[in-house]
Amino acid sequence: MLTQNPLSQERKKKLRWFVTLSTMPLLGVLTAFGLVPQSDLGLPTAKVAIEEIALPKVDDTVAVSSFWRNERVQRGDTVAELLSRLSVEDAAASDYLRNAAETESFRKLSVGKEIQAETTATGGLITLRYLSNNGTQILIDKQNGAFTANTLAAQLEKRLFVRTGEIKTNLYAATDAAGMPEAAANQLNELFSGDIDFHHDLRVGDRFTVVYEMTYNNGALLNTGRIQSAEFINQGHVYRAVYFQKDAQHGDYYTPEGKSVRKAFLRSPIEYSRVSSGFTNSRFHPLLNKWKAHKGVDFAAPTGTRIKATADGVVSFVGKENGYGNVIMIKHQGRYTTVYGHLSRFAQGLHRGQRVAQGDLIGYVGMTGLASGPHLHYEFKINGQHHNPMRVALPDAQPISSSYQEAFQSVADDFVARLNLLRNTNLAKLD
Ligand SMILES: [Zn+2]
Repeated sequence: MLTQNPLSQERKKKLRWFVTLSTMPLLGVLTAFGLVPQSDLGLPTAKVAIEEIALPKVDDTVAVSSFWRNERVQRGDTVAELLSRLSVEDAAASDYLRNAAETESFRKLSVGKEIQAETTATGGLITLRYLSNNGTQILIDKQNGAFTANTLAAQLEKRLFVRTGEIKTNLYAATDAAGMPEAAANQLNELFSGDIDFHHDLRVGDRFTVVYEMTYNNGALLNTGRIQSAEFINQGHVYRAVYFQKDAQHGDYYTPEGKSVRKAFLRSPIEYSRVSSGFTNSRFHPLLNKWKAHKGVDFAAPTGTRIKATADGVVSFVGKENGYGNVIMIKHQGRYTTVYGHLSRFAQGLHRGQRVAQGDLIGYVGMTGLASGPHLHYEFKINGQHHNPMRVALPDAQPISSSYQEAFQSVADDFVARLNLLRNTNLAKLD
């Protein structure tokens, strides 16, 4: 219990702030329909959500004169019972909700629907909000002494969620236990997979904290958006990533120090395929019928599978060449070259000298040239020397550029502050 432990001044201050916040509208002014588990309404989320929609800052000295409560409709509920659970003790409000034509949608709310009420300290109703059964948002409030109900326009809203978890068996068991949606769990996996091998490096007790975005349409979940920031502590080593968007199109993940989290190269130019022939210095070539070094790797994939550029670069060759068949070569950062062979066709308009970005579609798998079946032949060269693309230590992507350093730093500082706040909160919960 909180009172049994001597609290530091700072902790006390934070808890007081927490108590104040929890009596405020947790998710904003007009958009507060929490079709989310109660656990989403804890301190960090509330804080984040309030910041997200830019409510005025609340300091811990403000006196609170109204109270918000959430309730869900239960089987067999009457208006009176529901109002009683919402701590509304207001005869006029009760009469209005029971009888007015415009509050029919309230009386018809189905089981499980959530209602939020703001009341005075003595139970007088100030505001009532809910999502009606047909998905419209209804706001009831008192104007000139009389209650009125208004339908609010459809509204897209982004909310930030915070999840913390601990590894007991594997990553996905932990993200499930933490209540993270699968899309966010996949992103977490992808985000740190350049540094952590989630099959072999995970240990019991590894921990993570993730802040991600969800988009709601009138309070109903539309989709799970991107991770905004994350921390993963693997075998005592702390990895952190923060998303920074420099303009409408371009965003990427960086460490709080501005180093790219991403590698400069994707490990593989195609998704979900297996290596059918690895990198060797000699192998028997089935078509040439002789032993020959295989200075690349082959990815088995059906004809037509999309091939991505593994890194930002400039196309140095597009065309036919001997055993390669249709082949693309891309130069990267001066020293690196990647080669993509046996293609059935190239991406439309792809030409020599063209700038491509990591992940751009450049062509399609085929079996042109010396190929016994459809596959992608991929090579990775450093200063003209072949390396095994599956093993080579991949360079980091570019750090944050100096022109964005200042803007980035404020985003990163905010992220670090939130993480520290989360730690303190979790400690408080354990007290
Ligand atoms: Zn090959």
